[in-house]
Amino acid sequence: MPKSEQEWKKKLNPEQYHVLREKGTEMAFTGKYHNSKEKGMYVCAGCGAELFSSDTKFDSGTGWPSFDRPENTENVELKKDFSHGMIRTEVICKKCGGHLGHIFNDGPTETGKRFCINSCALDFRKPN
Ligand code: FE
Repeated sequence: MPKSEQEWKKKLNPEQYHVLREKGTEMAFTGKYHNSKEKGMYVCAGCGAELFSSDTKFDSGTGWPSFDRPENTENVELKKDFSHGMIRTEVICKKCGGHLGHIFNDGPTETGKRFCINSCALDFRKPN
């Protein structure tokens, strides 16, 4: 795994670097996964950690891939985020520290959660 920001810049494309390392947000409806219904596992684009299963994905209408729970709570960290004049909770990959998106309490399923995740922070793995 990259150690320095220079190494991360080499590994990631500019959009991925901006989101994962600088806590950016991709434009809604521009990412590759918001509409995807394929079965498989979404992993961290930075380090490959398993983050979200397609079984927990739902169409939030927001233009970002949305999930009602993480695949493994040990792989995601939640942190209060006071940026941009809002109080939100940031979702971070615990393994590499990459910014993934935010979590909201308006999810439509029994968990009540909506993990709103940037497509470019994710890679997709089909089942073997
Ligand atoms: Fe990661």
